[in-house]
Amino acid sequence: MYLRVLVVEDEASIAKQLANALREAGYAVDVAGDGRHADELAHAGVFDAVVLDLGLPGVDGLTLLRGWRAAGLRWPVLILTARGSWHEKVQGIDGGADDYVSKPFRIEEVLARIRALIRRASGTAHTELRCGELVLDPRTARVTLAGEIVRLTSHEYRVLAYLMHHRGRVVGRSELIEHIYAQDFDRDSNTVEVFVARLRRKLGPRTIETVRGLGYRAGTE
Ligand code: CA
Repeated sequence: MYLRVLVVEDEASIAKQLANALREAGYAVDVAGDGRHADELAHAGVFDAVVLDLGLPGVDGLTLLRGWRAAGLRWPVLILTARGSWHEKVQGIDGGADDYVSKPFRIEEVLARIRALIRRASGTAHTELRCGELVLDPRTARVTLAGEIVRLTSHEYRVLAYLMHHRGRVVGRSELIEHIYAQDFDRDSNTVEVFVARLRRKLGPRTIETVRGLGYRAGTE
């Protein structure tokens, strides 16, 4: 469960830096530059983690966070706080944040903290995901089969990662779609079938099982 991330940041250059780094790491990313837009996205979508700047125009980050938690939205939230502002950290964590990074930050630290939050949220202690000889490493977005690197597109990667994170469970097509596409992406549910077909070609026909009328399942081989 580490596929779709919402970035809430009003400084365009920082938002872009975060979004680019996250996309490069294999995530689907939605970006909101103000509190109102962030709130719309948060209530419309399903996210696996949120990076939230606390200093936002309009509705501030802390108010957003408290609202989301009051509404029962539970995804892990990493807050970005001003340097040296200990009271922001305290208020943020009391408001329901799971972790924080102070500005200015190293992008590597943000990525590592997001990986850790998602790992914790999904109860996965190991960083690598395994199904037999198939290994997926979220730190590098790399997939190997019997030790050989398999090249996947970002959508193929997210489909596989989501199924491997929920190995043994049937994942419905609409759930899969929610986690592999950003909000502004043209979502065509037929493309999920295409991604699964390509994954089977690359990884072997039995890697992903189709459960008729319900969805897909990995890790039962
Ligand atoms: Ca700001």
